Amino acid sequence: MSFIGSLDQGTSSTRFIVFDEAGKIVGQHQLEHSQILPQAGWVEHDAAEIWKRTQDVITGALKAARITGSDLAAIGITNQRETTVIWDKTTGAPLSNAIVWQDTRTADFLNALSPEVQRTITHKTGLAIAPYFAGSKIRWLIKNVPAVSQAIADGRALVGTIDSWLLWNLSGGVRGGVHFTDVTNASRTLLMNLETLDWDDELLGYFDVPRSILPTIKSSSEIYAHTDPAGPLGTAIPISGIVGDQQAAMVGQACFDRGESKTTYGTGNFALLNTGTEIVRSKNGLLTTVCFKFGNEPARYALEGSVAVTGSAIQWLRDQLQIISSAPDIEGLASSVTDNGGVYFVPAFSGLFAPYWRSDARGVVVGLTRAATKAHLARAALEAICFQTRDVLDAMSADSGVKLPEMRVDGGITANALCMQMQADIMGVDVVRPQIIETTALGAAYAAGLAVGFFKDIEELRKKWQEGRRWKADQSSLLATDGYMQWKKAIERTLNWLD
Ligand code: ADP
Repeated sequence: MSFIGSLDQGTSSTRFIVFDEAGKIVGQHQLEHSQILPQAGWVEHDAAEIWKRTQDVITGALKAARITGSDLAAIGITNQRETTVIWDKTTGAPLSNAIVWQDTRTADFLNALSPEVQRTITHKTGLAIAPYFAGSKIRWLIKNVPAVSQAIADGRALVGTIDSWLLWNLSGGVRGGVHFTDVTNASRTLLMNLETLDWDDELLGYFDVPRSILPTIKSSSEIYAHTDPAGPLGTAIPISGIVGDQQAAMVGQACFDRGESKTTYGTGNFALLNTGTEIVRSKNGLLTTVCFKFGNEPARYALEGSVAVTGSAIQWLRDQLQIISSAPDIEGLASSVTDNGGVYFVPAFSGLFAPYWRSDARGVVVGLTRAATKAHLARAALEAICFQTRDVLDAMSADSGVKLPEMRVDGGITANALCMQMQADIMGVDVVRPQIIETTALGAAYAAGLAVGFFKDIEELRKKWQEGRRWKADQSSLLATDGYMQWKKAIERTLNWLD
């Protein structure tokens, strides 16, 4: 019983990681699943395929770690948030494909809600009115899939985000699986009231969702159920942690206290700031969400800001412009010049998100002279990742009154040392990356381990956080001052592009 298992169900793949007490990885296995794109703007997953992959990665990771299920003290689940599954509890089969967070099919319904209803929803949930969240996806399934409405009428339908689907299956499915979710996932549905931490009847009414098909909302760290011995673990062990992926990274980064934050650099960037037990409502276009709730302790809240285009801008340079052949190549190219040569790149490919929220904006490259080269553009792309991140973090500071002492970072782009140094210089604070960079999976392992006494308390977890690498801010860098001013001018140039 000296290990914790973490199931990390992401948008493109599913992983199971076995951690030891020190937080070290002793075995893992990862498998991709299909992206189903039936028409423009629609993105679906086959939840049965995800459950199949889940069983396979659990088996594979146990084998890689040379242990069996009974060597695990508990398992935790972290998941792509907002993706919605509806299934038949008598057969265990999904009633439709899962609708993925990226799917925009419900935009028209949401836009047609009256401003007053929109304000109520935003106030009660802390979220924006967007198809991203689960509520309008559930409504769409009920209104458009006859098998779903029939199953609801028969009392056979269960709905949930991916965590609920996997928990139900792991705990026995048709043989008595439990139907729960945790507060962090529930806070992404537009159906949960941030203050009561329960489904809200007024919100359920706006989306026509019957309470009876929804999971019970639990904390992020408690024993929800035991695994079905007939399942992939082969034995009954506690399932005792559920945390949505970005919140799990907060836990894995040990951001337990008010004022602590992390930024994850991937395809897009996600910054979260712990606001403690206080619900801080953003005046700058950020989301308010539950950060975590451990057992009977009060919930901790967070402000969340996302930048849509960061790693994907690097992919654009690779795939569309073909000025690099792989993402890591950008570091060498950008390092071949000492500055951006006056070139600024705003990758507003689908408008500007937080804190600007301008759908009329489109991307620009400005400041071109005869001397500009692809190296300057590469440098401008890395700077754009950092300037956009500063925009969001400045908005967070404005909303919360908290000035960041330093930045904790994780994710694929943190492999790029030049980009991390730019970030430190542009923010004017040190950027630090932990030794264990699998923070999302680690966060779910922490939540699960706390509930069963594998980890004593958050003080113990805090001590496990070890600095891996630090990029010290150069306080004399012009990037933070002149560079950021130029960036703001470049932002101006993107606006009013679409009529
Ligand atoms: P996700 O979880 O969103 O799939 P990852 O954390 O795996 O993202 O990061 C992948 C992204 O990071 C890709 O968009 C890729 O272009 C970018 N990336 C990976 N390595 C580097 C690097 N060395 N420099 C810059 N960008 C990188």
